Amino acid sequence: PLHGYPAPEGKPVYGSDGRRIIYDENGKPCRTCNTLKNFRMATAKETTGEKTQSSHANKALAASAIAGVSATTDKELAPDGYPKDCPADVEELGRSTWTFLHTVAATYPESATEQQQKEMKAFLETFSKIYPCWFCAKGFRKYIKANEPKVMTQDEFGRWLCDAHNAVNKKLGKPHFDCNLWKKRWKDGWGD
Ligand code: FAD
Repeated sequence: PLHGYPAPEGKPVYGSDGRRIIYDENGKPCRTCNTLKNFRMATAKETTGEKTQSSHANKALAASAIAGVSATTDKELAPDGYPKDCPADVEELGRSTWTFLHTVAATYPESATEQQQKEMKAFLETFSKIYPCWFCAKGFRKYIKANEPKVMTQDEFGRWLCDAHNAVNKKLGKPHFDCNLWKKRWKDGWGD
């Protein structure tokens, strides 16, 4: 399904940030396809973001007290107000994965052998099947089918990946990234 499976009776179609909530085939909200805020809204554990966050912070503190670890909410909470050690949501998973993929490109051979090209294509194929956000994985499979991965050289691969990332940016209404800058962002740095 293009937008995931239909929301079960009585469950929200959209989250509080206006994004569609992605459900699994069994009618459960997908943990890795939604933002944590929307996931919690769809699982209806708590009703408001504020309540969710403070309750979550208290749980984190309680857990660290039990574990004998000292923790302050300042240290434990990510900018979105949730504890940093929560399971990854769609955003954190995405950010970390793009970091991994672009860094793989940055360390890919300047000129890859036939074998290295074969391995990279096989990796991308497998990656597109096992990426934990099934909804995102489906989009990526569609992308690589329509845009065959270019893996002959480091620069070619880095740019192909940059284009693939831009296709997701476009879908999500995020700014387009200038692919002439991919190496500065992921390999050489900005020289500052
Ligand atoms: P990200 O998009 O995660 O980018 C991280 C950093 O990469 C940016 O800060 C920027 O410095 C740099 N960057 C941005 N664009 C480019 C580019 N084109 N090339 C090189 N560097 C760049 N989320 C969904 O909600 N729906 C989806 O269908 C979806 N599909 C995804 C498919 C894949 C394969 C992956 C890895 C992630 C997907 N995501 C999806 C997650 C989404 O792309 C973002 O990772 C997430 O929304 C967090 O975005 P962000 O603004 O923190 O920056």
